[in-house]
Amino acid sequence: MIKKIFFDITKCCNAKCVYCFTDSVNYEKSFAKKELEDSKIFKLIDESKSLEIPSISIGGGEPFLRDIPSIGNYPLSSQ
Ligand code: SF4
Repeated sequence: MIKKIFFDITKCCNAKCVYCFTDSVNYEKSFAKKELEDSKIFKLIDESKSLEIPSISIGGGEPFLRDIPSIGNYPLSSQ
């Protein structure tokens, strides 16, 4: 059974950590067009719920550089 999904919501980041493990320091704004649209993220959340995966961890990049309120307000549980 899958217990957790770790999902990088963006690779965009405004920090320049030398130890970056997601290669976000080389990220260019033009790459943002290639990131998943909100609707596809919602679909991933719905599929995770249908598979009864109990936890989704959202990371990045810097998640707050994306429109995280719309994603954060999406119901994560079916209750
Ligand atoms: S993604 Fe994390 S490690 Fe990478 S530059 Fe941003 S804050 Fe630093």
